[in-house]
Amino acid sequence: MAEDCLFCRIVEGSIPSETIDSDERTVAFMDINPATPGHALVVPRAHSADLLEVDPSDLEATTVAAQRLSRRMKDVLGADGINVLNACGQVAWQTVFHFHLHVIPRYEDDPLKLPWIPKGGDKDEIAVIAEKLRTR
Ligand code: AMP
Ligand code: ZN
Repeated sequence: MAEDCLFCRIVEGSIPSETIDSDERTVAFMDINPATPGHALVVPRAHSADLLEVDPSDLEATTVAAQRLSRRMKDVLGADGINVLNACGQVAWQTVFHFHLHVIPRYEDDPLKLPWIPKGGDKDEIAVIAEKLRTR
């Protein structure tokens, strides 16, 4: 546990939350600033700052818990779809540095918008970047 971490405190129960699910490795609770009704967060019990640091077994458990919650949101809330979102790094909108997945139920009439405008990219630039990223 990290002393100054909000989500570690929520996991241990010293800061209150609307907890909705938990298992050996993960806890899920409601986001206090919901993007849509039902927006929740799934976190590993063990502290890690972000996607780059999280233990792969915790990442797997958190993803499985997010799937379980997504199914429940469809069944119980009547969600028409789900977004699972992770912010990794301040520039990528992360504000709490304990790895977490947002599970956001989506509804036909909700106000959320895609945060980028899809437009065809430069094929050469895509290929150059692909070459840098490619593993052999
Ligand atoms: P991110 O900005 O991706 O790091 O996500 C952090 C999320 O934690 C935000 O959506 C906040 O609304 C949410 N949050 C902050 N404090 C609390 C809290 N005490 N209980 C539940 N959610 C919180
Ligand atoms: Zn933590």
